[in-house]
Amino acid sequence: MAQSIAERFARIATSEPPAETRVLLRRAIVLGGSMAGLMAARVLSDHADEVLVIERDGSEESALPRPGVPQGSQVHALLPAGHAQLDRWFAGFTAAALADGAVDPPPEQIRNYFNGVMAPQAPAGTLGQSLVSTRPFLEYHVRRRTLAIENIKVVHGRADGLEFDGDRVSAVRYQPAGGELVVEAADLVVDATGRSSRLSDWLGAAGWPQPPMLRMPIKLNYASALFRRDPKISDVGISIAQNQAGRMVTPRQGGVLAVEGDRWLVLVAGYGDDRPTRDLGDFKKRCREDFPPDFGQIADHGELLGDVITYHQADSRRREYHRLKRFPARLIVAGDAVASFNPVYGQGMTSATLHASCLSAYLRSDPALDKPARQYFEQVRLVVDAAWRVSTFADLELPHVDGPYPRGYRLAQWRSGLVARAAALDPGLGLQSARVTTMLDHPSVLSRPQTVLRALRLRLLPS
Ligand SMILES: Cc1cc2nc3c(=O)[nH]c(=O)nc-3n(C[C@H](O)[C@H](O)[C@H](O)COP(=O)(O)OP(=O)(O)OC[C@H]3O[C@@H](n4cnc5c(N)ncnc54)[C@H](O)[C@@H]3O)c2cc1C
Repeated sequence: MAQSIAERFARIATSEPPAETRVLLRRAIVLGGSMAGLMAARVLSDHADEVLVIERDGSEESALPRPGVPQGSQVHALLPAGHAQLDRWFAGFTAAALADGAVDPPPEQIRNYFNGVMAPQAPAGTLGQSLVSTRPFLEYHVRRRTLAIENIKVVHGRADGLEFDGDRVSAVRYQPAGGELVVEAADLVVDATGRSSRLSDWLGAAGWPQPPMLRMPIKLNYASALFRRDPKISDVGISIAQNQAGRMVTPRQGGVLAVEGDRWLVLVAGYGDDRPTRDLGDFKKRCREDFPPDFGQIADHGELLGDVITYHQADSRRREYHRLKRFPARLIVAGDAVASFNPVYGQGMTSATLHASCLSAYLRSDPALDKPARQYFEQVRLVVDAAWRVSTFADLELPHVDGPYPRGYRLAQWRSGLVARAAALDPGLGLQSARVTTMLDHPSVLSRPQTVLRALRLRLLPS
């Protein structure tokens, strides 16, 4: 019997390590050594004699922000599905990160606010353990585990293009820092160079069709700052606050995360022309006036470590490689290079880990390597659809976002609203919804007839 979309997604998101792996490639090359590239390299190490990661930045030993990942100073939450994937691909990952200072706050230190009102918590443990840290710390741990694998090596340089042999990719060109252009032969190439990937240009220049790009303008503005954690000021471990004051009023979002090194990372965010600045006075005012008291107490009384750092993201975007009729064999695209979302939903790093699981499934399926990797792109499409659906449906509610609207939007939005309202009253539905927003399940589970009927019944019950 054909598998449903939800079942196919569940197979990708499994936390079971792969049972059997086979070496199919002599050398695989990964462009970009951040979350998606490192995860892809980990998977490829099971299937290639040798894996080479080409990364612009040269800072392997550092758990600090770096130029190639300019968003690295901002709050980064790891969703439970990403957490499960990290443990899937690196046994004992969570335990090691926690032992090194990442935080797993107890339930009483975790708070979620909507318009200043605390939302009910999912029962402790139902979504798994938390793993809270700064983004560079998490990436450092992924890098350390990846580069400890014997057949993975990293070289520093800027990837500059691909070489083709007929209908397949055959090599990568890259420019080592201060050196001559190098051409490196490959049996498989993964582009994991992030949101600004130039793969589409490289394909176009070599006469291949370019993937259509879908964009949703979100105009998101972030500002984050680190403070020394101090129990005399607050006990908060995770606090997420969202203010949606009313129709035509752009919401503001805030977050406090307890991170490694006994620090809090505090975020304030706005949309459109509502731009938090680098000014500490502005940061404190937003914390004090817009969010629950923990925010103001930390900003006003905590010791600031470093500066307030801002970041602007203009759009959510996806490149639809699965639509291309012609595409070279032995070429894979992963992470933000395929799709990047509104960061407030915390989906990017988790998506990167799930793309790695798609790559593993593809390489374990006895693939015809001299044909385009269509099974891979179909699976990645499922993961991108899941994240895109959750984030863009919510963003289409923002007053400054006016499309593009997907087909069937009105009905789907009515159904989502119905289930969301019922989820606040029914713990079972609440958990199902939380499993979707944390990418443990595909959103299609919430449109199953039995789920919608349960939500309708709650709506029709006399209050
Ligand atoms: C403000 C903000 C907040 C976010 N918050 C969250 C969050 O809470 N949770 C979450 O999961 N995600 C979050 N994200 C998304 C997350 O940062 C990305 O999804 C994730 O980093 C994607 O990883 P990646 O490896 O695909 O790309 P990137 O992390 O962007 O890395 C690309 C890598 O490629 C390298 N590179 C680029 N070009 C070349 C080249 N030509 N040659 C060699 N190397 C190259 C770069 O140096 C870099 O190492 C946030 C994003 C932003 C902007």
